Amino acid sequence: MKLVFATNNPNKLKEVQSKLPQYEVVSLKELGVTEDIPETGDTLEENALIKARYLYGKFNLDCFADDTGLEIEALNNEPGVYSARYAGGERSSDANMDKVLSKLDGKTNRKARFRTSIALIQKGKETVMEGIVNGEILIDKIGEDGFGYDPIFQADGFDISFAQMDMETKNRISHRGLAVDKLVEVLGK
Ligand code: IMP
Repeated sequence: MKLVFATNNPNKLKEVQSKLPQYEVVSLKELGVTEDIPETGDTLEENALIKARYLYGKFNLDCFADDTGLEIEALNNEPGVYSARYAGGERSSDANMDKVLSKLDGKTNRKARFRTSIALIQKGKETVMEGIVNGEILIDKIGEDGFGYDPIFQADGFDISFAQMDMETKNRISHRGLAVDKLVEVLGK
């Protein structure tokens, strides 16, 4: 059974495929989709739905899409849906993290969470699920692994940043890992 995942990120694809052995998880590239599907929604849920509906309309295959944001309490949940391009269109992780660190300068509340929304369309039926990991924004960047905001995020219950964590642990506790676990549960029903 084919299941289309609206991504070309090999790490995401591998993580999802390993949790769904009964499916052939197909990437956008494998379907020949080269255009960027517009993410014009105001929320993570909307963006995930926009991408999933686009694919379902085009291929009529069961599919799902995800969208993730970093939500910082003291910044009214910024950068949220704008996480990828917080510091501008060039999508630089370093510039994005610098912007967060400077906006939080002097603030004591550093609570933050990563939230992933997944929209699944199965035979036309839409299901939206989410995964959340709570934590805090560190004072400085630390760690070499991971991507995006990993060097400045520390999950509750840990004393290392996401960029210092081995991938297996991060996939188990992360926003995306938890959202994918829910997807697996829904698909298993
Ligand atoms: P996407 O929806 O998965 O493309 O994520 C949007 C943006 O959120 C990315 O460009 C990253 O800046 C950030 N992001 C998503 N997931 C993570 C993560 O696991 N660690 C750090 N940053 C992330």
